[in-house]
Amino acid sequence: MNASPRQVQFVVKTSKFCNLRCRYCYEYAELGNKAAIAPEQLEQMFHNIASYYRQLDFPVDIQFVWHGGEPLLQSPDYYWQAFDLQHQIFGELANNITNAVQTNLTVLNPERIRLLKDGFDEVGVSIDLFGGLRVNRSAVDSLDIVLKNMDRLNEANIPFGCITVLTKLNLPHLREIYNFYRTMNLSFRVLPLFKGSFDGQHQGFEISAQETLDAFCTLVDFWLEDQEFVSVVPIVDYIQQVIHHYTSNSSLIFYDKREWENIYLVNTTGDIYSYADAYEIERSHGNIFTTPLTDLIVGERHRQIIIEAEERMAATCSTCPYFGSCSGSPVAEGSRQYNDIDEWGAIRCIVDQGTLQHIEYRLKQARIINPQTGKLDIEQIKLPAFVPSLATAV
Ligand code: SF4
Repeated sequence: MNASPRQVQFVVKTSKFCNLRCRYCYEYAELGNKAAIAPEQLEQMFHNIASYYRQLDFPVDIQFVWHGGEPLLQSPDYYWQAFDLQHQIFGELANNITNAVQTNLTVLNPERIRLLKDGFDEVGVSIDLFGGLRVNRSAVDSLDIVLKNMDRLNEANIPFGCITVLTKLNLPHLREIYNFYRTMNLSFRVLPLFKGSFDGQHQGFEISAQETLDAFCTLVDFWLEDQEFVSVVPIVDYIQQVIHHYTSNSSLIFYDKREWENIYLVNTTGDIYSYADAYEIERSHGNIFTTPLTDLIVGERHRQIIIEAEERMAATCSTCPYFGSCSGSPVAEGSRQYNDIDEWGAIRCIVDQGTLQHIEYRLKQARIINPQTGKLDIEQIKLPAFVPSLATAV
């Protein structure tokens, strides 16, 4: 029996409703829609999830990531009620549940501060710092209000991390972005643009896979030359993967979607997806409001999606030198913003493999990895005891 719990995340789209109109938002077409998942639907969803994880004979950590739209536009009571339902429905398993929220942090009042402090376990703030793309309906940049509200979170001693979306408009400011988070002592995740809500949405600020790779390599260099530890995801994950690759006798890690799926996305309708298949209804596993997860997992749709993920890994990862240190999940889950397709239709793993190669090159240059023997001098590299994974942003 595996002693350490397995992890699973449910990214729940509470509602698409939002007070902002961020120009790259993949929910753009629906941001005026006030419909939210009803409490009875949440209750049904929790039952359908709990019944699956309760019958497993190994421990599981379940995280709900509350997404929108802007999830904090819902009344705080909505979430207090959801947390109560979790306790009632999951029973003993409730101790293994955490709740995270990904917010634009433009709407804050004392009740919401209390919710963030005492209700949610993790808070993720979306802020790009440069580019002016996170605007309200009157096209006014939300940056100043978000910065003020971050100060309010600090005053209230609420820990939080940030997500910055990489676009053509903030690429020239990577140094300032890195320094901002370093000075503020904040963890941050850098997220390349996700697919848009309509054709041409990203015109003027789109970035290619190669530009994403260049940006990641630049962040690697900032990180390696820094005396301080700065938690920048996914850079620290990549560094750990290269260290794993050069650590003798480390056990290999392979993503096995057939055995364990670690992230699901739940739409406001209850349709549930693998992360990268969001809203392609023909690729939904089914509906989690009406159907137990146990049934969805063994369903024909899910089986077909697993086969396709396995085929992607076989075509791309099987020849990759890092396979086993990188689990292959970036290709299995088809992170389109990270990759191109080659002439035979296979994924070219540009960003992940390219960043790992760059780190390997830099560590050899610095003699942290001996280029002749491949021996790793682990003492030379600052490593955290624990690198937090920031709330997932689709
Ligand atoms: S780096 Fe890319 S190709 Fe290599 S194992 Fe990871 S996902 Fe697969």
